This record gives sequence, structure tokens and C-alpha cells, in this order.
Amino acid sequence: MSNSLLNYINGQWIASKAITSLPIINPGTGEHIADVPLSTVEEVNTAADAASVAFREWRRVPAPDRIQYLFKLKQLMEENLNLLARSCTEECGKTYNESIGELRRAIENIEVACGIPMLMQGRNNEDIARGIDEHMFRQPIGVTAMIAPFNFPGMIPFWFLPYALATGCCMIVKPSEKCPVTQQHVFELIDKLGLPPGVLQLVNGAKDTVDAILEHPAIRAISMVGSTPAARAIYAKAATMGKRAQCQGGAKNPVVIMPDADMETATRILADSAYGCAGQRCLALSVGITVGKARDKFRDLFSEATRNRRVGYGLDEGVETGAVINAESKARIEKLIGVAEAEGAIVVVDGRGKTVSGHEKGSYVFPTLLDNVPPQGEIARTEIFGPVFSLMHADTLEDAIAMVNDRAYGNMACIFTASGAAARQFRTEAHAGNIGVNIGVAAPMAFFPFSGWADSFFGDLHGQAEHAVEFFTETKVVVERWPREWSRKF
Ligand code: NAD
Repeated sequence: MSNSLLNYINGQWIASKAITSLPIINPGTGEHIADVPLSTVEEVNTAADAASVAFREWRRVPAPDRIQYLFKLKQLMEENLNLLARSCTEECGKTYNESIGELRRAIENIEVACGIPMLMQGRNNEDIARGIDEHMFRQPIGVTAMIAPFNFPGMIPFWFLPYALATGCCMIVKPSEKCPVTQQHVFELIDKLGLPPGVLQLVNGAKDTVDAILEHPAIRAISMVGSTPAARAIYAKAATMGKRAQCQGGAKNPVVIMPDADMETATRILADSAYGCAGQRCLALSVGITVGKARDKFRDLFSEATRNRRVGYGLDEGVETGAVINAESKARIEKLIGVAEAEGAIVVVDGRGKTVSGHEKGSYVFPTLLDNVPPQGEIARTEIFGPVFSLMHADTLEDAIAMVNDRAYGNMACIFTASGAAARQFRTEAHAGNIGVNIGVAAPMAFFPFSGWADSFFGDLHGQAEHAVEFFTETKVVVERWPREWSRKF
């Protein structure tokens, strides 16, 4: 039975007139769960025009009133957590607990944005010159759009959406064409809020839909998360069209394991970082650099953890690593493991060619550990986006930091050590915007910005917290003089 997803435009659920749609397949079971339409340029234009009309009134709704919708949305999301989490797992393959985790972070962003009456405050000076005052206000930038990746279908739009709404902007969400179902459920909740039509809208689609968004003159700002080539291209086009843009890209995150680290704890935490979400996390650790004597002990413990990891369907009890997004991705990851072998790496634990009993049509790559990965090779540099962990070795912390910094990405870098001095040196010198010290996934809480660097981020202001508030607002400076003698006239 066809379950074609709808667009939510101007407060109405509308079937797209698109002639093309894509099937959405549960990656854990191979079952067909929905079809996503690739919306037309006219549909994007209708949404953008509706948002432009809505913005005129929405921006004048007082901030304390705007956030009442967010309080209500938080409550609805809490009440529907189970439904949303199942949807995340069914469409993207991660475990149920991982889905709950991403939705918790989504809700946390709603909570932070509820502070907008304070977060959006400007500043002022009295008497910058005799009788003259100067003020800086923050005003909403206008109509905005959010373009999402597949791997956190519940959370990632919420790095932006609550802040857009709270600051008085309107937003069009374009979910990933690979995982659009959860946002359909989120918008079923948004539909219950009683927001003015056009403030929040959902338009499904892929590249052509994004191009229509980028080309619409009324859309002032673009928030995008995805692979680096797409982030780079969208950032460039948005800039050409005169839009403000924040585009978060791909990653290849390294961790340094010092000889004084607690190896058991490091192994437990790092196995989850490398193999949790089947490695499909922009903050997954994918390269381990052992320093000096850490090498043998860590490799042995980690290979055991790799072998013992429980792989299966994300809705089944006790599963630690779910499916990868689709058969194409499984084939790509397995091919890259072959490239590693050809480059001279040792495949310590091989996760290729495996199936999960009872879910033979699912797309599973089992956790894979590679050792002796050449630092200059393809595998050390390519984002694999699967449950594959590559080991390399360095003699000193300085050498390890040089290896960490010799790469294009800058999303996250971590160190495991018992030494405050080593941690401090690493924290200062590692080229990455998110640093973990004895932490495996240094994901910033909603009240900090998500600070990717280098090829992991294009723009200035990141998602979440005060960066998001700045992104969705424009500053207006007012210099004013009110001579006493003029006032006496009235
Ligand atoms: P993707 O780049 O294929 O797609 C992301 C979004 O961009 C989708 O909505 C897609 O329709 C659109 N898109 C893709 N190519 C486009 C193009 N050429 N022009 C216009 N729009 C285009 O990414 P994905 O496979 O869905 O997600 C995985 C990637 O996202 C990984 O590289 C991962 O590291 C990255 N990611 C980064 C972060 C971060 O915070 N830096 C977070 C999550 C995921």
C-alpha cells in the first residue's frame, strides 16, 4: 500500500504534484515504509510566498507569546517520544535508545530557545554624546530554510527550528529524502500548535527542491547539515544569492589514546563512539591514534570489544549497533574496507558480508577494526560513515597531534589520558571545533554552539544556543536624540 508523504504548506497538509518520488525502505528489515515526493519548484515557491506573508505578522507577536508555542511543542514531543523514536529507528536503522537520545537533544533545544526573551536582548548606551542615546536591537531575519541530512532525522532540524520560531522568523524544513518520515510526525505535532499558517512549513524533496529554495529571493537564510561536498555547494550558491548561510559538513574524527589512559574505560566508551549509530554520526570517532606503549593493550582490548558488539535490528532488545542507511551504503563501506587492505592495513576484525538472522534483507555492516592504517592513505582521510575504526600509531603526543591536525575536517578530536598537562596541550593545539577529554562523543549540549571547523563547517555562526539566535536575527542600531525643548511643544 502506498504511503506517500505530504507537504505541510500554509497550515495545510498537501499532496505534492511531483512526478517523481523515492521509496523509503527500513534499512533494518528491508521493508518498504513510505514514498517521498520530490516536490516541484512551484511548491517551494508557494511555501516561500506563504512564509513571506506570515512573517509580517509573526515578527510582531511578542517574544513571550511566541515561546508559548514552543512550550506546547515540547510537551507534545514528550508525550509522543515513543512514536517519534520508533520512526527514527525504522527509517534510519539506529537503535531505539539512540533514537530516544537524539530526540532528547531536540527537546533540549526547544527548552533553550524558550529563553529567547532574554537571549534576544540587545544592548544600549545612554549619553554617547550629550543628550544622545544608542541602542542595538535584534530583529528576526525573515523567511529561512533548513536542509537536513539522513542520520538524525528527529534531532537535526531542532538545532535551528526552535530558534527561528522564537526569534520571530518563519522556517521551511526540507528533510533528507532518505529519512523524511520522522519530520512528517513532528509536523503532525506542529499542526496541533495553532501557529499562524506559513510560520513553519515542510517541503519534501532532494537536490532540485534545495535549488528552488536557494533561488527564491524571499528566503533570507539557509541552515544546512550534510556531507562536505553538498555543504560547500549549498554555501557557495546561498552566498551568490545573497543569503546568510550556515552549512555543517562531513567529518573524520580522531582520538588519541595515551599510555596512561584507563584502557578498559577508554575501550568501552570508544567502542560506542565508533560503532554506535552504526558509525553514521558526524561525531563518530573513526581514527584511533595510540601513543607509545598504549598500542598493544588498546588494540587487544578494542578488538575484543569490536567482536563482542551486538549487531541487529534497532527495535530488538539489547542491540548495540543497528543497520547502515541502505544497501548502497553497505556496499560502499565494504568496498572501502577492501581499499584499506590494498593500502596495507590489517583487518583485525572483519564486518563484511554478514547478515542478521531474521532480518536478512537489512543492510548491516558489522563492526570492523583496521590496524596499521597508513596516515597518508585514502582510508585515513575519507569519511567512511560506517562502523569501521582505523588504528594508527605515534611515538609522542606531539606526533599524535600533528597527525590529528593533518586532515581536511575539523568537527571533533578527542584524547584519553590521566594527565592534565597532556589533555591541556591537546585541547589547545588540536584543530577541531569540538574537543573531548576522556569523552567519546563530544556533542555540545543545546546551550553551546555546535562548533565544527575547517571542511566540517561553512559559515560563521553555528547551530544551537546563542549562535543560532545571532544567525536568525539582524542587528539594528538606533542613535536617538530627544531635545527637551521639542518635547515641551506637545
Ligand atoms: P547529503 O549531503 O547527501 O544530504 C544532506 C542534505 O543536502 C539532504 O537534504 C539533500 O537532499 C541535500 N543535498 C545533497 N546534495 C545536494 C546538492 N548537491 N545540492 C543541494 N542539496 C543537496 O548528506 P547525508 O548523506 O544525508 O548525511 C550524511 C552526511 O552528513 C555525512 O557526511 C555526515 O558527516 C554529515 N553530517 C554532519 C553533521 C555536522 O554537524 N557537521 C551532522 C550530521 C551529519
